[in-house]
Amino acid sequence: MKCPFCGAADTKVIDTRVAVDGSSVRRRRQCDSCNERFTTYEQADLIMPLIVKSDGTREKFNENKVRNGFTKALEKRPVSANQINNAINNVSKALRAKGEREVPARFVGELVMEELRRLDSVAYIRFASVYLSFSDLKDFGAEIAKLQDKNEKIKNDFYYLKTCFIKILF
Ligand SMILES: [Zn+2]
Repeated sequence: MKCPFCGAADTKVIDTRVAVDGSSVRRRRQCDSCNERFTTYEQADLIMPLIVKSDGTREKFNENKVRNGFTKALEKRPVSANQINNAINNVSKALRAKGEREVPARFVGELVMEELRRLDSVAYIRFASVYLSFSDLKDFGAEIAKLQDKNEKIKNDFYYLKTCFIKILF
C-alpha cells in the first residue's frame, strides 16, 4: 500500500490484529522511505443493494415490507415468528452476499418465494388469493378451481406466484 505521507509505493506491515468479534483486521504499517507509521482497517464489503422497482425507481431494502408480505401469506399457518425472522434474515443475507449496488425487485421476490416454499406450500396459493382480493365467495370458488388447474404448472414454474408476490411487495 502507498504511503499517505510521502506517496512512496511500498509500505510494510509491522503489526496485524483481528478485532475481538472477528469482523475486521487492523494493520499497523510503516513507510520504508519516510518511516511514518499509519493504520489500515480491513472489512468485508457487504453492502445492502438498492432495490430497482419495475418502473425503474430505486428504493432501500425495507425489512418491514418483506415482513408484512410473509405475515400476510402465512397468516394462521403453522409457521412461528421465529421461522419468519430466519426467512427474513436469509433474504437479507442473500442480498448482501450478492455484492451488487442494485438488484431488481424481482430478485427480492424470488428470494422471498424460495423462503416461503421452504416454510409452507399452502402460502403459495394464498399469495394468489391475497393478490386477487376476491369480492365474494363465488369468485373465490372459481379462482380456487383455476388455481388447482394451474397447480401442476406452478409446481414446475413459480413464475405466476412470484409475480403475485412481487406485486404485493412492490
Ligand atoms: Zn512515506
